Amino acid sequence: MNDGLSEGAKRFLADCAKAGGTVTDGPVESGWGVLPFLGRKAHHWSVVDKVGASTQLRSACGLVDYATPSVPLLGAGSYEHCQRCDHKLLRHIR
Ligand SMILES: [Zn+2]
Repeated sequence: MNDGLSEGAKRFLADCAKAGGTVTDGPVESGWGVLPFLGRKAHHWSVVDKVGASTQLRSACGLVDYATPSVPLLGAGSYEHCQRCDHKLLRHIR
């Protein structure tokens, strides 16, 4: 598993494991996920656009970033969810 990830992304996952055993569910397209190198919380991502092999993503709390084949969005696993995303999602449901 995790073949095809960049060395940086692999290192990120290894660091996460060292920091407290946090694991992700592997690459995902959208939804609750963690982008490597972007903090230590999971945000709720929606796909904005596809640019070549990259995917532009926007989080419910307003972050914009790109996932690429070598640095993909990773499932949230046991990551703590961003509270701002959580609140925005709850507001949509009510
Ligand atoms: Zn967020």
